[in-house]
Amino acid sequence: MIELNDDKCMHCGACVGACPANAIYLNEVILDFNDDCTDCGLCVRACPVGALSLIRTRGLKVPAATA
Ligand code: SF4
Ligand code: SF4
Repeated sequence: MIELNDDKCMHCGACVGACPANAIYLNEVILDFNDDCTDCGLCVRACPVGALSLIRTRGLKVPAATA
């Protein structure tokens, strides 16, 4: 999943153009992501100001509850 730092984003659209899954939406107010995101990380590399980061949430093991 992608995390956006709103304070850094300047709405340049570079990440939108870099996304092969068309998972990023940008308008004058918001930048948002849909469920088509494959966590490929291309948008993170495309962002010139480092506003995006990839958070790995898949494959994490949930610790078993201890009694
Ligand atoms: S991680 Fe890949 S698929 Fe997901 S929004 Fe960024 S470029 Fe698109
Ligand atoms: S590339 Fe970075 S600065 Fe540009 S719209 Fe995307 S997140 Fe914002």
